[in-house]
Amino acid sequence: MMKKKELLNLVNRPEMILGIYNYCDRWCERCDFTNRCANFAIGEENFSKSGEDSNNKAFWDELHNVFQLTMEMILESAEKHGIDLNDIDTEKYEEERKQLNELTNAHECAYLSKDYYTYVNDWFDATEDLIEEKKESWKTNARIGLSEDDIVKEVGHLNDIIDVIRWYQYQIHVKLKRAIHGKLDDANEPPDEYPKDSDGFAKVALIGMDRSIAAWGKMLPLFPIKEDVIFKILVLLEKLKRRTEKEFLDARSFVRAGFDD
Ligand code: SF4
Repeated sequence: MMKKKELLNLVNRPEMILGIYNYCDRWCERCDFTNRCANFAIGEENFSKSGEDSNNKAFWDELHNVFQLTMEMILESAEKHGIDLNDIDTEKYEEERKQLNELTNAHECAYLSKDYYTYVNDWFDATEDLIEEKKESWKTNARIGLSEDDIVKEVGHLNDIIDVIRWYQYQIHVKLKRAIHGKLDDANEPPDEYPKDSDGFAKVALIGMDRSIAAWGKMLPLFPIKEDVIFKILVLLEKLKRRTEKEFLDARSFVRAGFDD
């Protein structure tokens, strides 16, 4: 089991980029920075040893271990900064959170992004058979000249498009809600010149939208019969993108550690 000292050594390795994981899309498989990310390293250190099997007792034991180490560090940090963790007006806090959540859910970016992930699910439900037919047709075409490599490439291309759409489908909504929530929360604080978390989360959502738009663009020629619905989805995404850029004027220029600097 990992000890606190080992955890700190790992996080403080010189090659690590501080906070890189705060504004990433969590797609570690496709990330160029796995060797500079403490979050990834901790995951590898703990979970690769336990087989990544969610039914595996070792997996949950390791997770519990990281939880305990993190709690220890929170308590130490609170003590160091003179913060009394019990000094919370729970009722007032709950009421404020409830109001913020309601305002967040009612925001146009929140419900448009919810519409988006619903449309995506509907599209895949309605197109499932067609996607399989398409893959089968490539295999059949092997008999009329398409090489094995071509088929692998075509199927891989389609799978990549689907992966991109599916990866960002819910993430756009989640990140936007965090951004809206953060912005509403910040409105109660005195203004300062520091970059806003809300812009960082909005930027991650915008990147997800850009990539999803590109992926749907690649989907279009593959399924011309579904053109109308794909255009409807693209129009929704474009509308969401514009609304987000209008709401978070500094999001595009927000500098994410590692990715943008
Ligand atoms: S920065 Fe990259 S490696 Fe780290 S959590 Fe994000 S996607 Fe994964």
